[in-house]
Amino acid sequence: MGLGLLSYSEIDWPKDAKCYILNVDMFPRTADEQHYTAAAVCFSCRVRRDCLVEALNRREDHGVWGGMTERERRKLLKENPNVTDWNEVFRGDRTVAA
Ligand code: SF4
Repeated sequence: MGLGLLSYSEIDWPKDAKCYILNVDMFPRTADEQHYTAAAVCFSCRVRRDCLVEALNRREDHGVWGGMTERERRKLLKENPNVTDWNEVFRGDRTVAA
């Protein structure tokens, strides 16, 4: 699951993570196709936004988080180097390049 090195005590949303509940590996080591299969789980996950914000805010390099692959997040971060709090973006308080 896309939880990286954070423990459950540090953040509270992972208890509702669909990848955790379904035991899906969100860190596939091979082809992009497997990343997209993992990412598909995210689209019906109720904590998707929190998960994606967490990954973007701490520049997480590995795994699928919030429905985005590593490559997709890297591209988004590269195009928006001045965004430090992605919560602002998802709340609609700030616009970004997509
Ligand atoms: S959005 Fe995806 S990676 Fe994040 S907790 Fe949900 S299922 Fe897991």
